Amino acid sequence: MRIGIPAETRPGETRVAATPETVKKLVAARHQVIVQSNAGVSSSVTDEAYAAAGAEIGSAADAFGADMVLKVRAPGPDELAAMRPGTVLIGMLNHFDTENTAVMAQHGLSAFALEAAPRISRAQSMDVLSSQANIAGYKAVMMAANTYQRFMPMLMTAAGTVKAARVLIMGVGVAGLQAIATAKRMGAVIEASDVRPPVKEQVESLGAKFIDVPFVTDEEREIAQGSGGYARSMPADWMRRQAELVHERAKLADIIITTALIPGRKAPVLIGEDTVKAMKPGSVIVDMAVEQGGNCPLSELGRTVTKYGVHIIGEPNLATLVAADASALYARNVLDFLKLIVDKDAALAINRDDEIVAATLLCHGGEILRKQ
Ligand code: NAD
Repeated sequence: MRIGIPAETRPGETRVAATPETVKKLVAARHQVIVQSNAGVSSSVTDEAYAAAGAEIGSAADAFGADMVLKVRAPGPDELAAMRPGTVLIGMLNHFDTENTAVMAQHGLSAFALEAAPRISRAQSMDVLSSQANIAGYKAVMMAANTYQRFMPMLMTAAGTVKAARVLIMGVGVAGLQAIATAKRMGAVIEASDVRPPVKEQVESLGAKFIDVPFVTDEEREIAQGSGGYARSMPADWMRRQAELVHERAKLADIIITTALIPGRKAPVLIGEDTVKAMKPGSVIVDMAVEQGGNCPLSELGRTVTKYGVHIIGEPNLATLVAADASALYARNVLDFLKLIVDKDAALAINRDDEIVAATLLCHGGEILRKQ
């Protein structure tokens, strides 16, 4: 099969959907790979490295003209227009954006949204949300440390002792766990909060303290279990009790990293304006949910702002700031996904009865298959 790797065009997108490592494997599996010239430049991958791995280097039209196109982000109008009906498109295609799915269906694409894969063991190696969230959690701590005007670890010097930074992590999924691990390595003292009960043990095993917001009704306990591994919106009363507890912990924190998301919904507000006002001057918030409306109403998309003396970082898509490793892991996720839909003779073999295929295939043959 001819597989095209175009350069990403979305502003700020630095990643690429294949690396020389994955190209080599695709070529070994008897595919023909066409990489758009300079597609890897923002991830520090040269055309020469792709060519050495067996790819042809071509234009955007060459890459989009392939039988299968591997992308990071959903295609824009020009990119859609460059693909023929019947093209197989694989990427993080925003499965909640039904308008985008309708347009891809109209173009006759077979579009797979990798972020829609179910959270089952078999899908772990192709889980793009996890691979990218892991990187983003690490980078969030790096950015916070860079903005914070004090030390992260405790320091005992001849000039006196410096206290360790207190870090509060809100939302302990993949990104939150990595943020805890990274802040821990840097010597910070860490507390964390999440709605899902199993998280307590994970937080404690990383040497952090869990902020427990007890459930007072069966409904709260039931909703907190989430669905399919994801959180659901908690009842207002639980959120109020959580906010009160968090307010007290935030007053003591030097750095807060918020990662809480509810799939397909606006992110929950966890650090309100009153809490920011009560924080110490010079403390830092990294709002990793800023693209989904933010866990802090004062964060601004793409900007670092200082409000009430608190620096609030609203950098979206932190994984793009670790472009080379983000691309490397994403490309491996994609390669693993391809094993599901390509047979050993390098031909397309879409088995719609497969649970992962069914969950990710947004449209096929002009038909919309996934409504959200
Ligand atoms: P996510 O990015 O959807 O959300 C981040 C975290 O925010 C979650 O832990 C969520 O519970 C939390 N959150 C939501 N509302 C909150 C609130 N009001 N207050 C505090 N926290 C709140 O999560 P994720 O990183 O995608 O991970 C979700 C779960 O799925 C994790 O348990 C993860 O380990 C699991 N997972 C399983 C697999 C697999 O089995 N294949 C793969 C990846 C992740």
